[in-house]
Amino acid sequence: MNIFSNIISPEFKSIYKSAIDELLSKNGLATQVKITYLRNVQPSDDCNNCIVDPIYKRSTGKYNNTGPEPFSDGSVCPVCNGDGYKIPNADDTCYMGVLTSEKSWIDIGLDNTKLPEGSIQTVCTADLAQKIKNSYSLTIVDNNGINNNLSYERNGDITYLGLGSHDYAITMWKRLR
Ligand SMILES: [Zn+2]
Repeated sequence: MNIFSNIISPEFKSIYKSAIDELLSKNGLATQVKITYLRNVQPSDDCNNCIVDPIYKRSTGKYNNTGPEPFSDGSVCPVCNGDGYKIPNADDTCYMGVLTSEKSWIDIGLDNTKLPEGSIQTVCTADLAQKIKNSYSLTIVDNNGINNNLSYERNGDITYLGLGSHDYAITMWKRLR
């Protein structure tokens, strides 16, 4: 989808592109975020702290007697959080425009009233799109002191804006927890 095709003048594209480039520049509003990947796109290992169910590949909630953080039977393993696995090097830090205020969102034709409260929009160059597609969550690391360490999951497909030679990816996210 390219919502700028045919409807926007070249002059407007140029202005818009400048605005987005400014948003994404290191001196602009680009925010450091951490992308955490889905298990199936990164190599993973069974948790080293609990007994992992061999079929369901989930934590059984039992300490394996060798791991670094003992816990009592039936509680949640503190190392894998019950997932049964840890993903090595599963995080990726990158910079993108994070728009927490609905007023500053780029209109991509959504009914914003139907989005969950606390939703955010990110704007980034299209080369980060594959990382976003593979993401389990996005965590805001530093947004000038705002919303630090809140986590989000992708809400819907990525919208691409093609502005001349630059492509941008617009993504909506909802709060994870
Ligand atoms: Zn575990």
